[in-house]
Formats: sequence, C-alpha cells, structure tokens
Amino acid sequence: MIDGLDTQDVRELKGVGNAMAEKLAKLHLHTVQDLLFHLPIRYQDRTRVVPINLLRFGDEAVMEGQVIGCEIKMGKRRSLLCRIKDHTGTLCLRFFHFSAAQKNQLEQGKRIRCFGEIRRGSSGFEIYHPEYKIIDENGIHTESAQLTPIYPLTEGLTQAKIRQLCEQALERLTPYNLREWLPGDIRTQFSLPPLSDAIQFLHHPSREVDLEQLRLGSHPAQYRLSFEELMAHQLSLIGKRVQAKQDVAIKVAEAGELSRRLLEQLPFSPTGAQQRVFQDVLTDLATGHPMLRLVQGDVGSGKTLVAALAAASVVQAGYQVAIMAPTEILAEQHYINFSQWFEPLGLKVAWMTGKLKGKTREKELNNIASGAAQVIVGTHALFQDTVDFDRLALAIIDEQHRFGVHQRMALREKGMKHGFQPHQLIMTATPIPRTLAMSAYANLDCSIIDELPPGRTPVNTIVVSDQRRQEVIDRVKNACEEGKQAYWVCTLIEDSEALQCQAAEDTAILLQEQLSDLSIGLVHGRLKSQEKAAIMARFKAGDIQLLVATTVIEVGVDVPNSSLMVIENPERLGLAQLHQLRGRVGRGKAASHCVLLYKSPLGQQGKERLSTMRETSDGFKIAEKDLELRGPGELLGTRQTGLWEFKVADLQRDKALLDDVQRAAAQLYRHFPECISPLLSRWLPNHDQYLNV
Ligand code: ADP
Ligand code: MG
Repeated sequence: MIDGLDTQDVRELKGVGNAMAEKLAKLHLHTVQDLLFHLPIRYQDRTRVVPINLLRFGDEAVMEGQVIGCEIKMGKRRSLLCRIKDHTGTLCLRFFHFSAAQKNQLEQGKRIRCFGEIRRGSSGFEIYHPEYKIIDENGIHTESAQLTPIYPLTEGLTQAKIRQLCEQALERLTPYNLREWLPGDIRTQFSLPPLSDAIQFLHHPSREVDLEQLRLGSHPAQYRLSFEELMAHQLSLIGKRVQAKQDVAIKVAEAGELSRRLLEQLPFSPTGAQQRVFQDVLTDLATGHPMLRLVQGDVGSGKTLVAALAAASVVQAGYQVAIMAPTEILAEQHYINFSQWFEPLGLKVAWMTGKLKGKTREKELNNIASGAAQVIVGTHALFQDTVDFDRLALAIIDEQHRFGVHQRMALREKGMKHGFQPHQLIMTATPIPRTLAMSAYANLDCSIIDELPPGRTPVNTIVVSDQRRQEVIDRVKNACEEGKQAYWVCTLIEDSEALQCQAAEDTAILLQEQLSDLSIGLVHGRLKSQEKAAIMARFKAGDIQLLVATTVIEVGVDVPNSSLMVIENPERLGLAQLHQLRGRVGRGKAASHCVLLYKSPLGQQGKERLSTMRETSDGFKIAEKDLELRGPGELLGTRQTGLWEFKVADLQRDKALLDDVQRAAAQLYRHFPECISPLLSRWLPNHDQYLNV
C-alpha cells in the first residue's frame, strides 16, 4: 500500500512547525496533497531580459539598461525618477518612497537589471517601484527555464516560503502517491493529461508556454483540473438527484376533471408551449416520486396558468397545493388569479403573509390545517412554524431566485410529516444560463415555455439622460392623454427601503404638480396590504393613469393597458431586474416603450448594461450578460450555499467544458462508481451538507 500524499501532514515538510501549520490551515492546507492543489494565481516571466522597445503596457518583465539620468521630481507627489536605456529604447523607473542613498546609487552610467509592471506614466512607459539591482559591466542574467509562480497567500506567509513548501511537495510527487481517479477511458476520450503531469506543470510552467493562455485558464493542464473539479460537482448533484427520486410522493395519475373545467372557463386557450410543459408536469406527478421541476419562461409567457393546471390536478387527487411568491404584491396577484379561477370550481383558496394578523390570520391558519382550503397562496410566511398543512402534496414556488435554497428545503419539510414528499414546481422568469443550469440546478428537471401568448408587441427601449427629464414627463403626459397607462419606477438610491419609499413619495408629489390633470397613484413596500391592493385594483381598472412605484412591482404585476414605463436610475439595477420590470409593459396590443432615465454621467459598466437592455429583449441573452457582469452568486442568491466555491474551476471561464463534463460524469457514474466517492472527498469534502437541496 502506497502512502498517499493526502495522508502526509504538512508538518512533515522542512520548515513547517505548528505555527506555520496554523497559517497554512487558514488556506485549508493541511496535507502535502493540499499544497499540490494550491495552484498559482498567476505567473511572472523572469526567464529572460526583454528589450525595452518590445515592452507593452501591463507587461511584467525583466529589463536591463544603463542609467542615463536620475532626478527628484516635485509634481503632485514628490518622486525619484530614474531614466535607463538599452540598445532599443529608454524607460523610466519611478520611486515615491526613496532614500538619499538610493538616489546616489542610481548614478549615471550604472547598469541595472530590474523587474516590474509597465504602466503609463507622465514620461511615457514607467515602472513604479521596480525590484532592481545594480550589475557590473558583464553581469549575465542567469536564465531559468521556468516561469515564477505567484501563490495565494495569507498573513504571515511569504511568496518565498510558500514556493519553497510547494517545491517540497512536488519533490514528493510520483504518479503513484497522488491517486488518479479519472479512468483511462475517460481521459483518452476527452484528451485529458494525467493528473500528476498537470499539477507538476501548473506549479512550474516552462518559459515556452503561452502566458496569455495560462491567464485565460485555457491550458490543457488547467482544463484537466477544472474538468475533474466540475465533474466532482456534477457527480454530487447526480447523486442528490438519484436520492431525491427514491423518495415517496403521492401519485397523480391524470390531469382530471378540475383542470379541464379550469381550461373551459378561460377566455383563451393555452399555447403549445404551455400544454407541453403541463404534460411534463403530469408525467412527473404520475411516477410516485417527488417532482423537482423548474419551469423557465420569459416574463409574460404564462407560467401562472401552468401552475394552476398542476394545482388543479393535485387538488383533484385530494391534496393541498401551496403557491409561494417572493413579494407581497406578487402573492396578491396570484391570490386574485387563483381565487378567480378556482372559486367558481367550488374550491377554497387561503391567503397567508407575515402581515396577516389577529382573527383573519387564525381563520386562515385553520383553513390550512383542517384542509378546508385546498389551495394556499402566500409569501415566505408559508414556512413559518405556525403554518400547519393538512395534506400538502405540491409546492409551487414562483420566481425562485429570490428564495434561498434553504427556504425551499423548509417548505419541503412541511409536507414530509405525512410520510410523503411534496412535489416541487419552481417557476422562474430569470432564465438560468446553461452555465448555472448545470450546477445549482442540475438536480432539477427543466421545462421551458419558449413561446409567448399571441398578440404581444415587442417593447421599444430608449436610454435617456436625466438632463432630458422634462421631455420624458411630456411623453408620459401624451401617452396618458391618449388613454394609455404608464409606470414610473423609482429605484433604490441607497440600500434602504425607507429611503426608496421616500423617493417614490417625493417623485409622486413632483409629478402630480407637473401633471395636474392626470390621476396618479403610488405604491411602495411600506403601504399596508389593503392599501396596496386597492391601488393596484384602481390601476388595473384604469382609474389611475400613472402609477409611481418602487421596484415592488417588479414581478408578476399584469396590467395590459399600460404601455409606457419610465425607470429612474436604471444603472443601479441588475439586468435581470430591469428585464423583469420592463416585462410589465408590452402585454397589450399597443406598441410599448420603456424609458431608462439614467443619471449622467454613466460609468463603463452602466453603459454596457443599458445598451444590452436596448439591444435585446431575449431573457437568456440578458441573463448571460448579467452573469458575466455580476457573477453567479448574486444572480441566484445562492452565494451562501457553497455551490460556487470552486478551487480551480470557474463556471464562466470554463463554460466550454460543461457539455463534456456532463457526459463524462454520466459515464463515470454508470461504469466506474468506485471513483465517485474519492473524487467527492477530494473536491467537495463537505458535500453532505448540500444533500437534497
Ligand atoms: P408570467 O409567465 O410572466 O408569470 P403570466 O402567467 O402572468 O406570465 O401571464 C401573463 C399574461 O398572459 C396574463 O395576463 C395571462 O392571463 C395571459 N396569458 C397566459 N396564457 C395565455 C394564453 N395562452 N393566451 C393568451 N393569454 C395568456
Ligand atoms: Mg409570473
């Protein structure tokens, strides 16, 4: 039996005592193997002297030259400026901290060798505070064959020290003591180099390697490690899913009478996409195992109807359904919709939010616990301990990305006490880009509503500076005078709901002064539920022409006659959120417009965001761009779950690998099950805690 490097403590290495071991532990480095997987974040090329005329801005390089002048410059900050030349050109070294001795040392005629990053300074290319040394006339640069690795550090650990430790770890590395868990078949099929070669290489790339390729993470050795790590994640998700599928859930054999009657009542017929997705749901419900299905559909694609059809089928079978929405306004909309749809069919719809108090609350809790209500609509208040379901068999969760993974688990627990798992139907209008679909959502089946109901008109998006606010106000006036309705959305100015509501109140007053003939309403998160509901109802009925609102209206609000939306300070919002907001218009026959009224001047990212909004209304493209600009954790609110803590992989950078990773993981799962658990413990030592999420 070979002693694996994963069992060798770092203290076995020279120069590691308890104090150093503690520092290393902060970087999660406990064993010699951990050091091998502690890869450089970047590399420096100190292997050769670069002629000055070949330097590019941003390069880090070794240069040699003769000092041709050295003087103290006064400018904004006092600095020592030393000009050097080689046979190709000249360059300045700048020091903001320097001693008199240093100035004397850098005297004209001396030869120096220096290393640093090339910047644009006031005298052309400059290096600030280079590492340097005076060399004699024929001092030769000792060329090394390898790039210099730069490692992630922690306090009290220097580059020199960690390099020396990684060096020792590499000396111990053989093809036998670092286990290869990717079977030869899979390595050949996906052209992956052996693990020990990849590790060896990444600590010490040879000078011939393309630094740019390394920087982009696209070297085969980097691919090899990302591939293995992504595969480990994928395997863990496959495992969870297989496990979840073994649980017992109630069986719903057919769509049933209720859903047929629901469809008969509607003034329209479902789109092909809605029918197809409902079929997917029915297939899941008939298996006797819990459904875990994500329905993606762009704003306005009609997800609610699919949810209602699913609910009808489960109620028909004799069970309860919970529908949960992330905001009170959206929950109310669902409550209104579901009541209108289900009450004529003789069902009772209950309502539960945090704001519900006293007798009404008691009554609703009773309806839920006794089973008098078959359909329960609410906010996350549905998770509370006091809410006790009678026979919950389906949890429908709208706009999933607003809820943490943990909340979804809590609702699932609610149904478990009866010996079966509730089915889960998760609906989102924020399309999950493929990069994420493979990770956070790999344990969900996925259906896409890829068709909008007929008669929608695309929204024309206009980006306007706040210096032209008056024109925008005139535009609102004209639209309303033509009988259309409009939204004016005030976004978060600072991270405070109170301030946001205040801003909306102020804006409503100002607009009312300027548009005295219009009937203007105001909604924000601090109004009471009834007040909010009353205003929304008046807007829906057309009594209110202009609705000033905070982003509370972002999701779900549905008033087809409103065809103009002004969003203030859109540069502060994420793209997904803007897309949601914009989805509130373009629901009727009239051509709709969305005015993004930004505060000038706009930063680079802001420009990029707003022009994405202008150019596309494709939710998938927008989500991809959002991901690129903001990163995955933010987009899904799952940062805290640990799903994103990759050691070497980067979903965005490595997305080209994902298809292969998925195929390889499926093969390994089927043919080499013995490799699964070692891969999981190598890459996801804590994977158990995410089980069944
Ligand atoms: P979302 O997918 O954004 O949740 P909704 O379910 O709110 O969309 O539906 C948006 C609007 O489209 C609603 O007014 C709904 O009544 C309407 N709708 C849904 N399905 C159809 C259909 N098949 N034909 C016509 N209108 C539909
Ligand atoms: Mg919706």
